[in-house]
Amino acid sequence: PVLRVALMGLGGYATLVARGLESCQRARLAGLISGTPEKIRSWSEKYGIAGKNCYNYENFDQIRDNKDIDAVYVITPNALHHEQVLRIAKAGKHVICEKPMALNAREGQEMIEACRRAKVKLLVGYRMHFEANTLEIVRMRQAGELGKIRFFQGLSGFRIGDPGQWRLSKQLAGGGALMDIGIYAINGSRYMVGEDPVWVAAQETKTDPQKFKAGVDETIQFQLGFPGGAVASCLSTYSMNNLDRFFLNGDKGFAELQPATGYGPIKGRTNKGELALPHVMHQARQMEEMAGIILENKKPLIPVDGEEGLKDLKIIDAIYQAVQSGKKVSLKL
Ligand code: NAD
Repeated sequence: PVLRVALMGLGGYATLVARGLESCQRARLAGLISGTPEKIRSWSEKYGIAGKNCYNYENFDQIRDNKDIDAVYVITPNALHHEQVLRIAKAGKHVICEKPMALNAREGQEMIEACRRAKVKLLVGYRMHFEANTLEIVRMRQAGELGKIRFFQGLSGFRIGDPGQWRLSKQLAGGGALMDIGIYAINGSRYMVGEDPVWVAAQETKTDPQKFKAGVDETIQFQLGFPGGAVASCLSTYSMNNLDRFFLNGDKGFAELQPATGYGPIKGRTNKGELALPHVMHQARQMEEMAGIILENKKPLIPVDGEEGLKDLKIIDAIYQAVQSGKKVSLKL
């Protein structure tokens, strides 16, 4: 069987996912959801999608009656994910939702419950969870090759352009760099260390309050503490380009990735030498693996379900709380 996927939100990232789907064996583009008739026209022509598999934001609940679509992939601005996922679950379709899964843990919890009630799967668009070099480091750690893990460093950032974009709107993005790019360091710390953190501390720096308005973070530095004694030191920013590095150290060895999360080839190195597993377009690999998870109940090495998305939202909530209070915040994931 092949996973037949409808894309919701035909913007920049959806364009990459559609390209990835073109080279998949087990997943294919089967439907389109957009508020822009012109995009529906050009996309359906390009990908050969029949009119009956195209929807807008008013009528997409009718996807319930469409036997040609198995799952909807939500690729819209962050603030829309919550309501859209609830509607898709109600329509009885599996959901893949882009990161961040929602604006906060409360919304995330509601999405998980809605999908559970509807008996549909909920996955989060974490593409790095399927990347070969990343998985090799996880394998090494699990095999004990790095020894006991003591430290992780996650640096995630880029210099954001156009001040008018939704990513710089508190209302549509739910925050700033942390929601968008810092989440890679948060999430990476968990799959690299192999544990969930029990506390966070965080400090915010804002150099441009015109561009980064109230509630939109430019730079946040945060620390995480793990039950086994490891600590993580991370930076999330919208003010530096080429900031994309993971570094993991145990008492026997180290592993690093740089770039760690960019779209191109991921490069890595450990105390044993270079990591250079071949590059496969991340979006293609992700969709291939997600088809296996949804259709065959396959279990990925690093989980990508709603519960994983929720853990990251709980950490994000705690980081914002720690920024506000200036105090360490305890976590129970
Ligand atoms: P984008 O601005 O390029 O596309 C967003 C799309 O949503 C546009 O087509 C826009 O028309 C549509 N949209 C629908 N309702 C809207 C509304 N009310 N306001 C504004 N736009 C609306 O953004 P993007 O870069 O494609 O990001 C979309 C989502 O994908 C975000 O949640 C983002 O975090 C995520 N993303 C993930 C990755 C990844 O590597 N996993 C990469 C980029 C983006």
